[in-house]
Amino acid sequence: MPTQYRQGAGTIGELPECAARYGKRVLLLVTGSGYNRLDKTWLSRWDDLGLSAHFLTFGGECSNAEIGRIGQETSEHRADVIVGIGGGKLLDAAKSAAYRLGLPVIIVPTVASSDAPCSALSVIYDDEGRVVQLETHPHNPELVLVDTEIILRAPLRYFAAGMGDALATGPEALACLHGGGKTILGRYPTQLGTAAAVLCDRILASDGVQALQDAERGLLTGAFERVVEANTLLSGIGFESGGLAAAHSLHDGLTELAECHHLLHGEKVGFCTAVQAVLLGQTGEAERFLQFCRSIGLPFSLAGVGLDTEGKELRARLTLAARRALQPEETIHSMGKAYTAANLVDAFTETDQISKALFA
Ligand SMILES: [Zn+2]
Repeated sequence: MPTQYRQGAGTIGELPECAARYGKRVLLLVTGSGYNRLDKTWLSRWDDLGLSAHFLTFGGECSNAEIGRIGQETSEHRADVIVGIGGGKLLDAAKSAAYRLGLPVIIVPTVASSDAPCSALSVIYDDEGRVVQLETHPHNPELVLVDTEIILRAPLRYFAAGMGDALATGPEALACLHGGGKTILGRYPTQLGTAAAVLCDRILASDGVQALQDAERGLLTGAFERVVEANTLLSGIGFESGGLAAAHSLHDGLTELAECHHLLHGEKVGFCTAVQAVLLGQTGEAERFLQFCRSIGLPFSLAGVGLDTEGKELRARLTLAARRALQPEETIHSMGKAYTAANLVDAFTETDQISKALFA
């Protein structure tokens, strides 16, 4: 969990004072579109505090090359702190660049699309968009500043994807706990981690659909605030200290397939949460997850995650994903069961059949 977490309307205004705690020279990593959406009245106070700000535009992929470039710019500008303002990949790149240089990092998510902001983990991709490494850092971000007015202005697709990512948190933490597995920190789940993960599940079930409707109408409501916290803080603590399991490994498997690359992380993770339930023999839970995904506009079938379900290649494509999901470093092994690629392929297709039967 981060050293400090602040959430609410207008919290971006606290950024200059917060950044000043770590030094005078600040590197701000932004995206063009995210930067345009920001209310920049806080920028005027930058000079008053004697801070020098250098803006750098993110290249778009959290790859080793991009992290190296950010690190180089940071060193050239002799920055004391890195501030990442953007979505999951940008935030992961900011965290990685900061830790490689031994600098503090402040995280300002502009979307609630994943649980990347609070964790001490960066998912590193290659230039083709495949996951190549899960990099853990010596500590979590110094500060996570979540301005819910900014999150509310982001495209709805990101908010729904964040719920897809958060949907996996509870079931994965429980699967890890019951399987005797360890978390990405190399330790057994903590009670706080498991409780945060379970709370995440409960908030999505009670407020998820309402929060999306509120966001559609541009309303900053209690339900919206609670789901942003679930997507960002609870899911972050839940996965990091409660443990991950099959859903994220199945997701990583899907990143092997070019036909799934147009989807956001959480859009695939939501469906993979149902596949994990099928693997565990929990058909009722799989149905509940598929229904939830459908109710908030997330993919709820193999075709929905991009696969050609009519083609002859389906089983071969799923086998490719399954092999990737079973690699030694994958979190599916925290469930304490020895799965084969065929088990995973069957779970994918069975989930698809459950979905067809449910929504026929
Ligand atoms: Zn995730």
